[in-house]
Amino acid sequence: MPIIVQKFGGTSVADSKKILTAARKAIRAQMEGNQVVVVVSAMGQNTDLLIDLAKEITESPPAREMDMLLSTGEQVSVALMAMAIHSLGHKAISMTGAQIGIMTDSIHTKARIRSISTDRIRRALDDGNIVIAAGFQGIDEAFNITTLGRGGSDTTAVALAAVLKADSCEIYTDVDGVYTTDPRLMPEARRTGRISYDEMLELASAGAGVMHNRSIEFAKKFGVPVHVRSSFSDNPGTMITCDPEAPGLAVCGAAKAKNEARVTVLGVPDRPGAALTVFSTVAAKNIAMDMIVQNVGAQGHADISFTVLRDDLPATLTAVEEAARQLGAEGVSYDDNVSKISVVGLGMATQTGVAEKMFRSLAERGINILMITTSEIKISVLVARQHAQEALRTVHEAFQLHLTPPGADEIDGGISGLARGNNTAEIVARLERMEALIVEDITLDQSQARVTVIELPDMPGLAAQVFDEIAEAGIVVDMIVQSVGREGHANISFTVSQEDLPEALKVAHELADLLGCPPPTSCPKVAKLSVFGIGMKSHTSVAIRLFQSLAAAGINVDMISTSEVRVNVVVDGQHGQQALEALEKEFADARF
Ligand code: ASP
Ligand code: MG
Repeated sequence: MPIIVQKFGGTSVADSKKILTAARKAIRAQMEGNQVVVVVSAMGQNTDLLIDLAKEITESPPAREMDMLLSTGEQVSVALMAMAIHSLGHKAISMTGAQIGIMTDSIHTKARIRSISTDRIRRALDDGNIVIAAGFQGIDEAFNITTLGRGGSDTTAVALAAVLKADSCEIYTDVDGVYTTDPRLMPEARRTGRISYDEMLELASAGAGVMHNRSIEFAKKFGVPVHVRSSFSDNPGTMITCDPEAPGLAVCGAAKAKNEARVTVLGVPDRPGAALTVFSTVAAKNIAMDMIVQNVGAQGHADISFTVLRDDLPATLTAVEEAARQLGAEGVSYDDNVSKISVVGLGMATQTGVAEKMFRSLAERGINILMITTSEIKISVLVARQHAQEALRTVHEAFQLHLTPPGADEIDGGISGLARGNNTAEIVARLERMEALIVEDITLDQSQARVTVIELPDMPGLAAQVFDEIAEAGIVVDMIVQSVGREGHANISFTVSQEDLPEALKVAHELADLLGCPPPTSCPKVAKLSVFGIGMKSHTSVAIRLFQSLAAAGINVDMISTSEVRVNVVVDGQHGQQALEALEKEFADARF
């Protein structure tokens, strides 16, 4: 019999009436001939209330007791949901995380799932029950209750769907799907019928939170099709699968992360391991760094910039100032009035002109770009916070995200079961490692060259001008980084294929002349290494391990970009093979 997992979030079980509505959806699915597992979150804002309660007692509650407390929220919901189903004349049984057999590690308040045993659920289902599972919780080896981090019920639902090989995982929430951008910010945002796992991961980390990111990583890892839909309407919702909404779609969504801060470590000695020192001191404080940009070193010195959440700025500065002293760097500067605007799309990996279009649209509105990073399927720019909303609207318009893309197929409710290409043996093998970091591939691209235009006047339209001219010359650009320059200057580095270097340099020289900047620099042969897989950002150690292994091999990193699904680094061409070997060795345990 097909199995369906339905997850109801806090707003969908906020009161008894809503619980009954959710119960009816579960019963309906069962009557349609499915076995049904329902995963629920705590009612309404209950988790927040419990946290407040703990804070009234003490500023620093022990993490173990926090989990003991927070897990009660979901326990209330499962019991009420089971009662609701009973009251409607159907069989149901509620279970806590421990009763289901969700084993986790012992990292309280952000535990990771290690394994799930399905025997008990299967027996209950075979007895004709709708099984109501508490989301967000598990148990460690010593029988301590653990929780999976805020929003973790999504992860429970997708993980259960994976182990039960469910035909579908429906996430019921208060929005009716995934939008091209946050509809609360922009009414013209459009609900997409479908989005791919990678796009969803990138969009979520770019500031568009619809689901717990780790749940998407799970879904991708196990090929679980996820159906996001509203608990209050019968709208079709959004399917999250391997495929994008339309073949070749360059941009599927745009996002704004409003409260960011930029930190720059100035004049870092440009030698192997310097970047590592900066990143590991910040990572040691459990602060997530985003847009990481390193200037190509001038006179043996480099500036390293990155962004963090504005709330993390004070702690970041403390850490970074310490690192700067250790390294003998010149100093630290920051800007806490910035926002990040990103566009995401699978199709941009194989198309030209996407970055130019974004830069051009912003230039036309006179919006200055402070920093740029690109990865295969995401382009992010940093802008002054006061321009963020206009910038979001501008790029949304430029890529016509309000219109259904040609070739978009309407989803048909019917779901195809576990994604293609996943045979049972493979799924079982993956399940043994549940949430482990998975490095799918490490690639070495030795075909590129780097061009850096330095000391560009930092004003609106500059990036657009550079990449327009490059595109006009018919040159395809791969990685782009723009760093915050000093004294109103910016540096832009990009990579092109080696055969295009002379032409790209010619254009760069003309531009530099025109703008009165020093001659551009270049490197005729660089090596680009990409580590891609699942959990690249949620396992914060990935970037650190990458830097560590390269530093240990004495290899200097020239350019960096990180994203949800990959980390790219550019190193000197002669070190490509050696860097590849270092990374293969470093991540041998995570290869799948
Ligand atoms: N109740 C938990 C929270 O509010 C888990 C969840 O809602 O997914 O974070
Ligand atoms: Mg919640």
